Amino acid sequence: MVRFENVGMRYAAGPEVLHDIDLDLEPGGFFFLTGPSGAGKSTLLKLMYLAERPTRGRISLFDRDIAGLTRAQLPALRRRIGVVFQEFRLIEHLSALDNVALPLRIAGRDEARVKDHVVDLLHWVGLADHVHALPRELSGGQQQRLAIARAVISQPSLLIADEPTGNVDDAIALRLLYLFEELNRRGTTVVIATHNQALIERFGHPVLHIEDGRLERRPGSRELA
Ligand code: ADP
Ligand code: ADP
Repeated sequence: MVRFENVGMRYAAGPEVLHDIDLDLEPGGFFFLTGPSGAGKSTLLKLMYLAERPTRGRISLFDRDIAGLTRAQLPALRRRIGVVFQEFRLIEHLSALDNVALPLRIAGRDEARVKDHVVDLLHWVGLADHVHALPRELSGGQQQRLAIARAVISQPSLLIADEPTGNVDDAIALRLLYLFEELNRRGTTVVIATHNQALIERFGHPVLHIEDGRLERRPGSRELA
């Protein structure tokens, strides 16, 4: 699903921030990504969602070496990856419905079906009463659930979330995790960067831990059980 072989990464003329990363994420898996601030978590995720290219080594997504992709092949691959950003990146002048519908409209889907599908999904994430609200009219947790709805509307094979629980209280963080688990049960591979140790212990998924640009995979408590 996601394979890194001897990947190194540095920005412009800066020092290398990821060193010799080897990684092989099974399809259908659920992974936490941890490590101190500045360790390279966001950089690793950006490589995974094709926002950055590695300076060395090889990355394959869905069994395809990304180095061999043409510019024309990139959008189709990107559509198989949903991304939830810590700062949401919602479009402020669009309603909840229109924010979530955007990826489908860009893909040229039939408008009548788009609306039904989006409204269903907004129900599922608990925003049934806020379909026409603007992002600024929603609480932080509601905006986060909206960002998740937008990331999953195209039914991605891989969902990547960079500290999705960073700005919400514990009860909402738990609820977000249940949402990710439900997606995972439906077949989506999930990778979540988080500092929330309580969530990591509670859910027991394997942990990818980065420190000083080096990655270590640790089994989750579910695997050990
Ligand atoms: P984390 O997500 O674990 O906090 P990052 O991947 O954001 O870590 O950062 C890893 C290192 O790379 C840090 O030293 C950071 O300053 C540096 N870095 C991140 N993004 C950039 C960038 N766009 N340009 C230059 N350096 C960057
Ligand atoms: P995080 O720790 O969650 O990655 P940061 O606040 O470190 O968030 O980074 C926010 C954004 O700034 C990220 O997109 C990151 O790539 C970028 N960034 C981080 N460090 C640097 C840097 N030294 N130079 C340029 N951009 C950076």
